[in-house]
Amino acid sequence: MSTQTLPQSIEAIVDRCDRLIEEPGFAPAVAWKNAAPNRAAIGCFPVYTPAEVFYASGVLPVGLAGGGNRMEIAHADSRFQSFICSIIKSTLEQGMTGLLDDLDGVVFHSICDPARNLASVYSRNFPNTPVEYIHFPQNFEAEEAPRYLRDEYERVALFAAELSGRSMTTEDLRAAIHIYNRVRDTIRRLYALRRDSPHLLRTRELYPLVRVGHLLPPEEHAELLADALHAATTREGRERDRIRVVLTGSFCEQPPLDLIAAIEDAGCYLVDDDFLIGRRWFTGDVPENTDDPLFALAEAYLDASLPSPVKHDMRVSPARLLVERARSHRADAVIVLCAKFCEPSLFAYPTYRKALQEAGIPHLFLEFEEKMWMFDRIKGEIETFVESLLFD
Ligand code: SF4
Repeated sequence: MSTQTLPQSIEAIVDRCDRLIEEPGFAPAVAWKNAAPNRAAIGCFPVYTPAEVFYASGVLPVGLAGGGNRMEIAHADSRFQSFICSIIKSTLEQGMTGLLDDLDGVVFHSICDPARNLASVYSRNFPNTPVEYIHFPQNFEAEEAPRYLRDEYERVALFAAELSGRSMTTEDLRAAIHIYNRVRDTIRRLYALRRDSPHLLRTRELYPLVRVGHLLPPEEHAELLADALHAATTREGRERDRIRVVLTGSFCEQPPLDLIAAIEDAGCYLVDDDFLIGRRWFTGDVPENTDDPLFALAEAYLDASLPSPVKHDMRVSPARLLVERARSHRADAVIVLCAKFCEPSLFAYPTYRKALQEAGIPHLFLEFEEKMWMFDRIKGEIETFVESLLFD
């Protein structure tokens, strides 16, 4: 536990996270940036960013998570086709309305065609904003993949150094890996607590605890998470008659907080999910004391990271892994919750459906948009699904 004078309740910690998340702009990141020279902050489009490379170079990686359900899209619509996911438009809209002005640059990745296009559209609309694009390997079996990715990270470090005016040393990178390992380890513990005792930590509580890491420096996030873990573990609670559900499909665009609450209120314990998966990307600690920590980061991306439809790892079947995950989490069912028009998640769904049907695991497919604000219909669908399982 951290050095707080009085232990905080989980409700108080979650409430603080909610307030920080709902505030427009990036006040905690700006405060961090202004506290010392040679610091900068960069906006990171989902899903995964090598946060350590930026942080070791004096650049705080701030997570971009779309515009939420309060943002009106007034300008960005004209830059894209109609059938595209919401986060693409809302990210550009945030730029066009000045909400990203506190950031010193933006970074995108090769996750899907819309994200690829957004990087170019963003550069064209904001010629004075530094925009970086990370090319993750598309062939995980290629012998050169780890070396290629390591060199890609080195290139990113040079870009980051230009933003902050400070070059990364090996020691800086080791320290950054160390602190982000601590953050991810505590998130894994919180996920394990929710899996084993979902009545002690609701997903509506766990989600903001993780999401606030999009805004805070990792030291502060690690401390907040440690406090939350202590508070949730020592909390009292009683298990209710709910079904255990693994949720998948929401790894990039994020559903509104009220939708997460509505799924739980409809009678589900969400015992696993892929929300904000980039914040806990690795299955264990990344080795920090190697001669070449950049190479260790690259190897961890290729061989020790969580499955995702945007990773294109042909060595594994995401559908088979989903079935295994449902079984290892003792799930009664799976909810596939995809962002509308999200190609990677919609392409994955038929393979999930087939594998789940063959394994005899019931599932429900739902679509969401970040700007949704009415949840009665979707809640009704989930309630019907839950009742069909409880009273089967
Ligand atoms: S929500 Fe899906 S389609 Fe949209 S940017 Fe993310 S991965 Fe790509």
